[in-house]
Amino acid sequence: MAGPPRTIIHLDLDAFYASVEQLDDPALRGRPVIVGGLSDRGVVCAASYEARAFGVRSAMPTVRARRLCPGAAFLHPRFERYGELSDRIFGVYRRYTPLVEPLSLDEAFLDATASRALHGDGPTIAAAIRRAVREETGLAASAGVAEVKLAAKIATDLGKPDGLTVVPPGGTAAFLAPLPVGRLWGVGEVTEAALRRIGISTIGALAACPASALAAAIGAERARALRALAAGDDPRAVVPDEAARSVGGEETFDADVVGAAPLERVLLRQAGRVGRRLRATGRRGRVVTLKVKYADFALVTRRTTLAAPTDDDREIYRAACGQLGRVDLGRPVRLAGVTVSGLDGEAAAPAGVDEEAGGAVGPVGAAGAQLDLFGAAGGGGRGGEADGEARGGGEGAGAGAGERRRSLLAAIDALADRFGERTVAPADLLDDGASPEAWPRHRRRGRE
Ligand SMILES: [Mg+2]
Repeated sequence: MAGPPRTIIHLDLDAFYASVEQLDDPALRGRPVIVGGLSDRGVVCAASYEARAFGVRSAMPTVRARRLCPGAAFLHPRFERYGELSDRIFGVYRRYTPLVEPLSLDEAFLDATASRALHGDGPTIAAAIRRAVREETGLAASAGVAEVKLAAKIATDLGKPDGLTVVPPGGTAAFLAPLPVGRLWGVGEVTEAALRRIGISTIGALAACPASALAAAIGAERARALRALAAGDDPRAVVPDEAARSVGGEETFDADVVGAAPLERVLLRQAGRVGRRLRATGRRGRVVTLKVKYADFALVTRRTTLAAPTDDDREIYRAACGQLGRVDLGRPVRLAGVTVSGLDGEAAAPAGVDEEAGGAVGPVGAAGAQLDLFGAAGGGGRGGEADGEARGGGEGAGAGAGERRRSLLAAIDALADRFGERTVAPADLLDDGASPEAWPRHRRRGRE
């Protein structure tokens, strides 16, 4: 593996939303607890371990969960509370290293390589963090320590609940070898079946398989990538996202493109990523910025301010596409992306004001304070019937179409959490002729 050995720690709270409910209400402890959308179309966001014993899983329709576990406590998510605890938990992480990459409200990668001199080796740091999270929040965090992200995350999963699993330095390939190939990132059902047909069911068997046989089964490019992963070669860095003043995504085209259609496809894909990341961290933003870099590296950005903050892929996508009319689509483009800023609680520009790149964003008061004025935006317009959930979750503040939309988004998020970001795609993208597994990796997340 290239570069000096790293110490990567993956941390994940156990059944986070459900655990918080049990923490706050002692009567729920030891009982099955299911957090999610409670309507007929709702989905499960989180299930306590007591509920999982009945087969209840996140992303499952709530209706089904009710059949499996009728005695469970079914609760609406309380994102404000989860966010508050999440802030405290991430505060603990950052005492040990500034290199913290949030994956969701309760899950993160830490690069503790440079912290070892001060705080001890990886297992020592992970144990200290778990203890501090327990003492300061009352919640159990599982942790995995390894030299690479892939192994650290799998280690955490294997040790749940309330576990600490360590992959010793130099031991990554041996740790991975006995595990099913489905554990590798990027191996979905289709690939798994193709590998099974040539007799490969474990990561070790994949690593040992001759490159030519593997390439014949799943294609040369994927074969190369999976063999590297199977050998424990995962050079991805921990990318800190602490500033969190904006959430963006962009892609560089393999070859320069001309015209709106290829840009729209990128914007659709990236709006999905941005929306999911916003929802995972309980944030919404009002300013949507389109970024286009031409073949000659000239960069233009165009931004618009929404009437109300959003975390909805579709709204982000529409706003970004709306800006395409303000850039020159006749020139070859090498990169496109979309960013959402003006996040909840930050100063933002007045609604409806479109600005060019570099235009000042006026501090006209916290966006959060204006939320109520536009409360029903995007919903079914019957916000008065909402039952006290100020912010969307399994079910949103609106009724009807708005609620269904939020249930759908929650389901997509839950699936992506369990099976990887590219499991679930908008139908428009699947029409592209590519399976989700074949989508290009995003090369860089934009940050401001
Ligand atoms: Mg978790």
